[in-house]
Amino acid sequence: MKFQKRFVPLLLALVLTLGTLPVQAAALTRGEAAQALLSAAQDYNPGVQRSDILKGYPDGSLALDGTLTRAQALVMLTRAFGGFAIPVGDNARMALPASSLTNVPAWAAEELSSVLAAGLADGDANEAMSAEALSALLRRAYAAKGTNLRDDYYAAVNKSWLDGSDIPAGLSINGPFYGLSLTVNEQIAAQQVQALLADYLSRTYVDEYFSAKAKSDVEEMIGEFIAIYKERILAQDWMSAETKAKAVKKLDTMGVKVGYPDSWESCLDRAEIKSPAEGGSFFSNVIAIQMAMKQDVLAHQNDAPDKSEWIMTPFTVNACYNPSANDITFPAAILQSPLYDVNASREENLGGIGYIIAHEITHAFDNNGAKFDENGSAADWWTAEDYAAFQQKCQAVAEWYDGQEAYPGIACSGALTISENVADLGAAKCIVAAAKKLDHPDLDKLFRAVANTWASTTSRQMREYLAVTDVHAPDKLRCNRVLQTLPEFYTTYGIRPGDGMWTAPETRVSVW
Ligand SMILES: [Zn+2]
Repeated sequence: MKFQKRFVPLLLALVLTLGTLPVQAAALTRGEAAQALLSAAQDYNPGVQRSDILKGYPDGSLALDGTLTRAQALVMLTRAFGGFAIPVGDNARMALPASSLTNVPAWAAEELSSVLAAGLADGDANEAMSAEALSALLRRAYAAKGTNLRDDYYAAVNKSWLDGSDIPAGLSINGPFYGLSLTVNEQIAAQQVQALLADYLSRTYVDEYFSAKAKSDVEEMIGEFIAIYKERILAQDWMSAETKAKAVKKLDTMGVKVGYPDSWESCLDRAEIKSPAEGGSFFSNVIAIQMAMKQDVLAHQNDAPDKSEWIMTPFTVNACYNPSANDITFPAAILQSPLYDVNASREENLGGIGYIIAHEITHAFDNNGAKFDENGSAADWWTAEDYAAFQQKCQAVAEWYDGQEAYPGIACSGALTISENVADLGAAKCIVAAAKKLDHPDLDKLFRAVANTWASTTSRQMREYLAVTDVHAPDKLRCNRVLQTLPEFYTTYGIRPGDGMWTAPETRVSVW
């Protein structure tokens, strides 16, 4: 992928940094749009000329000063990029239906067919287009092509996986259960074992799939990250020494749970489970297990909270920070390929499990975690001034994500996803800092591992549902929007103004 952009009009550089600026409502002219599209499309359709994009009106006029409408913009986009293929794999399910574009004028209908089939168009075809609106269309075009990592990093790195992905509509599962087709009975059985016999399943799972080497390796990584966090906190110029000392204390006392609990003691040991030969049935065994669980709760009801207790099972592919215990948990099941591999390079593990670990540590200092102290008690440990500065930074994070599209027509809510985004941004800084401690770190490997970590697929309906309910940003933004805050990302790939991934340095956000 050679860098072929011969020139970069100022217009496009401005257009692509609008994420955190006020909406630029002024309509573009046809001439301005042609110039921006010409530059943007060079990597995809080399040799395309302005006359190819701007065919003008029947009387021969190019109407360069005419106001750009959405229909015109889409026609010009199709011409500039040489058309769009009908999406396959993941992309097919992210596409907008052709009916999302309304009031299509007769003259444009034929030329719009590829952009409509690719699912990139919505809105009123007669609407005047601002620079920001054109920029949004361009981002969709970059994603649909998926061939230039300087324009859409996630789409380009994961292109073959995304094109080949095939999970039935309605499922959001990625990772180890991918490709598993279960009958209904098998699914019920699997769910029941996980819910009722979790303690026993956990032991079996850990014996079978988890190594002592993985545990010690990940514990070491966590120790290193906590040290980096201390350095980072002490280096913040917006925080007083008083608040910094409290934050460091929170790090020093943070509980770390890796793989599996220290004790395998289980209330299941006291449940009377009987095989059918012994006269037991599924029903009688469920009752016996439920009774043992209830008796266990009653027996401990007056005890002090047990901080060694796990709130996730070792066979869960997930991780968490628990603010009311001030601890982080990484079950055995998440410590496996592709997120973590004892044989992978350090950079790949940093971009995979490293990102997840640092994300959980940052939760101690996101807008929710900030309200709990080192003991897990709800407490205000900030000076008023520091807390105001912190809130201002969180607000900038909300704006950095708000309105960003991971899929055509589905915008991210900055307010809904703020705490997870603060954690992601802090994580990215931490893993890059860890990589920079290596001799000649290969940051390309690290960034690619980040893109691979978040490669996921699901139905468009599920994406729409998650956009209004999930506190996490869509997976694509957990790669692209996060990496766009790192100067090292721009230098690694030579990303410059005019590239889709470019953002102006003064607009990039950071909390930790
Ligand atoms: Zn999180």
